[in-house]
Amino acid sequence: MERVEQNRHRALANFSSFSRAVYSEIEEVGWEHLVRLSEDLKFLSFRVLDKKKRVHYIEIQLDKSYPKSPPSISVDVPCIFRLKWSRDSRLKDLLQQFQEHLEKLQEIWTILDEIDKSLWVVDLNRLSCANICRQINLGNDCFIMLCIHANDPKSLPECRFMGSGPTLNSLRKTWQRNSKRWNKDKPFLENVANLLDAELPRPPDYQNSDQQVECGICYAQFLPVDDELGAKSGCGTDYTCDNTSCSRAFHSVCLADWLCSITTTRQSFDVLFGNCPYCSEPVAVKINNTKS
Ligand SMILES: [Zn+2]
Ligand SMILES: [Zn+2]
Repeated sequence: MERVEQNRHRALANFSSFSRAVYSEIEEVGWEHLVRLSEDLKFLSFRVLDKKKRVHYIEIQLDKSYPKSPPSISVDVPCIFRLKWSRDSRLKDLLQQFQEHLEKLQEIWTILDEIDKSLWVVDLNRLSCANICRQINLGNDCFIMLCIHANDPKSLPECRFMGSGPTLNSLRKTWQRNSKRWNKDKPFLENVANLLDAELPRPPDYQNSDQQVECGICYAQFLPVDDELGAKSGCGTDYTCDNTSCSRAFHSVCLADWLCSITTTRQSFDVLFGNCPYCSEPVAVKINNTKS
């Protein structure tokens, strides 16, 4: 019986030293970057912004023997992210390495952004950050699939023609004939147009011009004028979902209220961590301090 007690005490002591360690490592990274933290503290997810303010998430699974054994990580990026881990490594080192990895990918995303903004990309909203291929609608049921090279994004991309349009074959031949014209010093889109010998169609304008500024929870644009709301009284929406295919606007007050009513919401200090009511992507919002 005594042994059982001892084991229990040891397990508790270990757990609390583990939890102390995890908390202090989160502290070093900054709680504002934490998106999710499981009850046993073994699963964490952080939000990381790259230099161009693109939002990325890193999911981290800690092992029993952490930090002796490296955490397992899951990220949505092209090119494998290889973590260098030593016994003294901490979560902040992991985040630092991830940030460095993101910076190496900037050239890839700059080209993809260029494509996404100017060309008629199929299923644009469903593409993940890791996807370096784009299916582009050339009109008349002709499509070209371009896959850029992760190691050399400005070089001639892999390409495949698809569709049943009557001009498909001639487009393919033109591309092959012109492929020597690819010039890495020229903008990517100019190269694509050069090889196809054609102007590429712009994406049809799906976006409606009047922006959604009403809150996704209370459906009003402005909060009521109310002393209890303090500085937020009468204010417009001040929080937008980071998921670009959602981008729903909220009053942070409404979002915090809503998160408080959800049982899976976690709280660390004055920040609530939960999921967007529209797209379920992680959201983090500060609890409104009405006196501020
Ligand atoms: Zn609202
Ligand atoms: Zn959302």
